[in-house]
Amino acid sequence: MNKKVAFYTLGCKLNFSETSTIARDFSKEGFDRVDFSEKADIYVINTCSVTENADKRFKTIVKQAQKANENAFVAAVGCYAQLKPQELADVNGVDLVLGATEKFKITDYLNDLSKNDFGEVHSCEIEDADFYVGSYSIGDRTRAFLKVQDGCDYKCTYCTIPLARGISRSDTMNNVLKNAREISQQNIKEIVLTGVNIGDYGKGEFGNKKHEHTFLDLVTELDKVEGIERLRISSIEPNLLKNETIDLVAQSRAFVPHFHVPLQSGNNEILKKMKRRYMRELYVDRVSKIKEVMPHACIGVDVIVGFPGETDTHFLETYNFLAELDISYLHVFTYSERDNTEAVDMEGVVPGNVRSKRSKMLRGLSVKKRRAFYESQLGTQRTVLFESENKEGYIHGFTENYVKVKTPWNPDLVNTLHTVQLTEIDEDGLVRFDFVKVLSA
Ligand code: SF4
Repeated sequence: MNKKVAFYTLGCKLNFSETSTIARDFSKEGFDRVDFSEKADIYVINTCSVTENADKRFKTIVKQAQKANENAFVAAVGCYAQLKPQELADVNGVDLVLGATEKFKITDYLNDLSKNDFGEVHSCEIEDADFYVGSYSIGDRTRAFLKVQDGCDYKCTYCTIPLARGISRSDTMNNVLKNAREISQQNIKEIVLTGVNIGDYGKGEFGNKKHEHTFLDLVTELDKVEGIERLRISSIEPNLLKNETIDLVAQSRAFVPHFHVPLQSGNNEILKKMKRRYMRELYVDRVSKIKEVMPHACIGVDVIVGFPGETDTHFLETYNFLAELDISYLHVFTYSERDNTEAVDMEGVVPGNVRSKRSKMLRGLSVKKRRAFYESQLGTQRTVLFESENKEGYIHGFTENYVKVKTPWNPDLVNTLHTVQLTEIDEDGLVRFDFVKVLSA
């Protein structure tokens, strides 16, 4: 009988796409994949360093694995495994911890899967993480996350990602296009581009620091791949989002009018302390450009509250800045101290209760922004891609400009594209619609 493997992924879309790649390697070695709650011979936990209480969370997941099979081999990989390998190895029940370079060779580290007396660490200096491993994952039969870039050369003072993932490097254009074609042949209708800093695409494509291609080249070529109905950019730094890219999306066949652009603070002094590479004026300019050529575009914003030195005045400046800006929703992060970052030693620590209050205020603003955006879309015709889950008798879907819609469950709608007319916002804050026509079944 084949051995069984189960995976648990924490964190971002990039981690999900990498878990899929690791899972494919296990299949090639003859393993069967089972759910994490089932009995497996090996449990692989792909960790994240951004997760709140990462260590506590990790311990709970290890216990969960042990509950399913106390004799199973437990391996930890991912960002937290790179940053704090020994901490993870010391957790009771952990057999193997692999850093950033070793995680893709995990199957080479498995012998007979008998448990170790202590957690074995195979880690590297992050400077050695300079090679690229391409990945993609199929989410829920309708959408795939395609990794195009890894690592980051920026030095934002709050961020540990460069320490966990290494320098900025990219997949080759040929490989990205090959993966995109492969995904489209599996009847997946939407591809979301993922990476740590995808606007930096092209750097390190052939193992050097030069940009052989740019992000604009990438979107231009991907737009030509037949069979992909939708392409989504996901998150891109404002300073790397060029006019040409925005214009291309506006005229594109497959790229959808949805941007997620991190802001982090609406106050220039705080942006400088964060070592972000733009001022708030540039951000206003990017939003205006998007809205000028795509008035119906959805714009999501990442923002951090409680960064050291953020006074009430700074925060209110951020709040008012966002309140006035023509954006559609916020992802609010509460600043938390991370070892080995510059910010951890900065003065002006914001008390926890103030951080929570600011986060609550911005989350409230996000609800208002999203509602106003949805209202602005009522009466328009959009395309919807339906998802695969039955959520309490309803099926959900997203329009090209990221309006979330719902209608009573109908399995025939799964993974189909329709033109719809958006009609009203219901009690859950989601949008109802009338069907207009089927675009792709
Ligand atoms: S751009 Fe800044 S926040 Fe984003 S990964 Fe790079 S260092 Fe971290």
